[in-house]
Amino acid sequence: MITDKKNQKGDPTEEREYHSASSGIFFKIKSHLYRQDSPYQKIEVIENEYFGRVLLLDGLVQTTERDEFFYHEMLVHPAFMAHPSPQNLLIIGGGDGGVLKEILRYTIEKASLVEIDRQVIEVSQEYFPWLSPSLKDERTELVIADGKEFIEKTDRKFDIVFVDSSDPVGPSVSLHERDFYRKLKRCLNLEGIVIAQVGSPFYHLESIKKKDAFLKKLFKNVCFYTSPVPTYPGGSWCFVFLSDEVQPLKIKRDPPRGLKYFNLDIHQAAFSLPNFLKDLGSGS
Ligand code: SAM
Repeated sequence: MITDKKNQKGDPTEEREYHSASSGIFFKIKSHLYRQDSPYQKIEVIENEYFGRVLLLDGLVQTTERDEFFYHEMLVHPAFMAHPSPQNLLIIGGGDGGVLKEILRYTIEKASLVEIDRQVIEVSQEYFPWLSPSLKDERTELVIADGKEFIEKTDRKFDIVFVDSSDPVGPSVSLHERDFYRKLKRCLNLEGIVIAQVGSPFYHLESIKKKDAFLKKLFKNVCFYTSPVPTYPGGSWCFVFLSDEVQPLKIKRDPPRGLKYFNLDIHQAAFSLPNFLKDLGSGS
């Protein structure tokens, strides 16, 4: 949220994201690179001294130049370590290209990105050029569509589905609901895996508990894991690994070279949860 702090030219000098009514994160705005409403959401790109370029949707941080690798590596590589032979991948959301960048480190057949807002892709190609070459890779299929409608209509099957949605506000609400996951399961090949971002283990614990309750009725293996993400609420984020056949800690391959965060020790550690996340179903 743009604050009312303005410079002599009347331009806002600070962007604030509230994580609770009385706490949050702020970014001093070095320059405002982009600010427009799309048919789905408000899209902003600001330049910040410390984090570099920052993409915000409806005032919420999506990715920053300086810490994007925490989130993108931890959303993608755990599933690749566990799946026997991932060839056909689906990304729901992910218009900034960061998840795709990590997927294309592997030898795969095809990665289909289903993003509802074409403007996010165009803005990312312009202001996050290191993220967007993946959007032009020959193995990439871009589909501009609502993720839920896409999985309702498709008869295709996928080895791994990555749900890189924004928070449960605006166009993304349906991607956080039981019906979406029930239908998503039908799009999986045998030994298929779903990975989704589920929010801050600290600020969004109630919504994680709700998800845990309905996901455990849909999938045999429901394994939460966490990672630091410096600019996300609480500085840490929670993901979920879903499959009927595959166990996340049964490693099938080594990680690709050149990663800045992920390795096999981090993989093991990420699935080791604190008690308040371990005992989700126990009503604690
Ligand atoms: N890492 C970020 C996070 O955790 O908040 C998400 C990044 S990514 C930019 C989120 C993308 O999901 C956005 O580009 C948004 O337009 C897209 N999105 C939101 N709702 C969608 C829907 N129903 N179908 C497909 N894409 C959607």
